[in-house]
Amino acid sequence: MRDGNSETETELQAAERRIGKIARCGAARVASMEQSFLALLEAIGEDPKREGLLRTPGRAARAFEFLTAGYRQSLDELVNNALFDSEASEIILVKDIELYSLCEHHLIPFIGKAHVAYIPNGKVVGLSKTARIVDMFARRLQIQENLTMQIADALMKTLEPRGVGVVIEAKHLCMMMRGVEKQNSVVCLAFSKRMPAPAPSSYRF
Ligand SMILES: [Zn+2]
Repeated sequence: MRDGNSETETELQAAERRIGKIARCGAARVASMEQSFLALLEAIGEDPKREGLLRTPGRAARAFEFLTAGYRQSLDELVNNALFDSEASEIILVKDIELYSLCEHHLIPFIGKAHVAYIPNGKVVGLSKTARIVDMFARRLQIQENLTMQIADALMKTLEPRGVGVVIEAKHLCMMMRGVEKQNSVVCLAFSKRMPAPAPSSYRF
């Protein structure tokens, strides 16, 4: 519990409230995931009928529905109505965007922060939308390198800015929990690019 206000809301209710805002994947897919989690419990030697696990397959299925909601979002829908004309030419930096994603190799989280910067070229996007773009790509199975590039590409495509820089610092639980890396290790990656001058082949007559 982060603050006193949330004490009246159970963990499950809070999860359901957040899930209520996402693009759902449909009852059939949730049921299929539920079956898979049930099989997983059996495969690891657990008893899915014991009290603590009775509702686990359903909870886990809904959690995965939430954690992969980014597959059902599109960039166009997301930034719709949130682009503004602007004369600004200074760097716009949105830093410390909380980031939660799933490693595509182990289905185990990597968590951290994204810092997104761009130099506008006539258009800017609402600050909260920048965080939503990060969420959209983070809520897919990812590796950190691709996630970083996808966010940068999305901003290049949407804003056609003079340049974009994206830095993601993350801790990979798949490595930490398996003892592959030290507990405090943080992976940092940066990606930036500039709008290239138009190549001759891109001219149209
Ligand atoms: Zn991994």
